[in-house]
Amino acid sequence: MSTTVPADDAPVYLDYQATTPTDPRVVVAMLPYFTGKFGNPHSNHRFGHEVETAVEQARGEVAALIGADPREIAFTSGATESNNLAIKGAARFLRAERGADRDQIVTLATEHKCVIESCRRLEQEGFIVTFLPVRPDGIVDLETLRAAIGPRTALVSVMAAHNEIGVVQPLAAIGALCREHGILFHSDAAQAVGKIPLDVEAMAIDLLSISGHKLYGPKGIGALYVRRRPRVRLQALIDGGGQERGLRSGTLPAPLCVGFGAACAIAGAEMAAEGERLLRLRRRLYDGLAARLPGLRLNGHAELRLAGNLNLALPGVDADVLLDNCPMVAASTGSACSSASVEPSYVLCAIGLDEAAARESLRLCVGRFTTAAEVDFAVDALAAAARRLAAEGMTTSARRAT
Ligand SMILES: *Cc1c(COP(=O)(O)O)cnc(C)c1O
Repeated sequence: MSTTVPADDAPVYLDYQATTPTDPRVVVAMLPYFTGKFGNPHSNHRFGHEVETAVEQARGEVAALIGADPREIAFTSGATESNNLAIKGAARFLRAERGADRDQIVTLATEHKCVIESCRRLEQEGFIVTFLPVRPDGIVDLETLRAAIGPRTALVSVMAAHNEIGVVQPLAAIGALCREHGILFHSDAAQAVGKIPLDVEAMAIDLLSISGHKLYGPKGIGALYVRRRPRVRLQALIDGGGQERGLRSGTLPAPLCVGFGAACAIAGAEMAAEGERLLRLRRRLYDGLAARLPGLRLNGHAELRLAGNLNLALPGVDADVLLDNCPMVAASTGSACSSASVEPSYVLCAIGLDEAAARESLRLCVGRFTTAAEVDFAVDALAAAARRLAAEGMTTSARRAT
């Protein structure tokens, strides 16, 4: 494991929802496919065939983790591309085939930016998008969802597990509702796959997005599950040689596919035990901070959440200032993709936090390589920094006044 652990003086990494390190076992599996086994998996000779075999094994490993058939897996560059392909591809295909009578997309206000922006693009093309609110605990209300569905609804897109607040949506109930109405159900499962059990049959999911680098695989690879029975048809985003059953042209990045598959196999084998371990670490982190920081609040549902995720509001403490003053803990406020902006998290606003509370919130996420000693270190460092800032009068309001 020493190869994964950064230098001794590196901060404690509590940002596993932004990305995960590639598991060393995954790196070992990938390495031959950069050099000796370099063939193009689409080539019809021995170099190609051996790589094709490995890529197809990886496809099977991805499929197995979500209860799918390997033929239902299309490799992509990651969950951003998968979400774009699922949402734009399904909406555009349905309109091209069925005319304008299926032009509504229903999604949540708390979805990942790449889902929201894909929907915004479709709005520009004349589609109607309904962004549903969520309850204060971050979960979608099923009656609200049911009421939003109408005869024009083509697609419902609801994230499986949230990248900021960690909440897990009732996928099986949403899937049943969509099926009842003959509507496609897409789920952005970038944070859920490999962390919680998912089954595209039991949950009646038609399209599901996966990211390699969120589950200890390499960056730059992901997949879209596309149901075969009944067949879900998509308009491709990329034109070319017609690889991936026409859904995604381009030469497959075989080393990344192999690593992604290995990561899925490991996640499947270790998920149950790892989930328990992460839950213990998360409780240790929460209890430690709560004991030292009175008034600490948890954002998002307390139980229906990923084992590794905490999203916490520290009253009176600006979370960005706190993290700046606690360099030995690597964590984020908001999500990495939008935290460059000065706006508070739209997700925290959508669950009813006011701007001040949103600015007091930070995301702490433990993962596969987190130890109890690291959690204890982080608790001490965060609590000390928070107390120091409070003593200096560096409260939320003080910062905004400057
Ligand atoms: C990380 C993430 C994405 C984007 O995935 P990439 O593979 O980095 O493109 C999309 N949705 C969620 C929920 C994520 O956490």
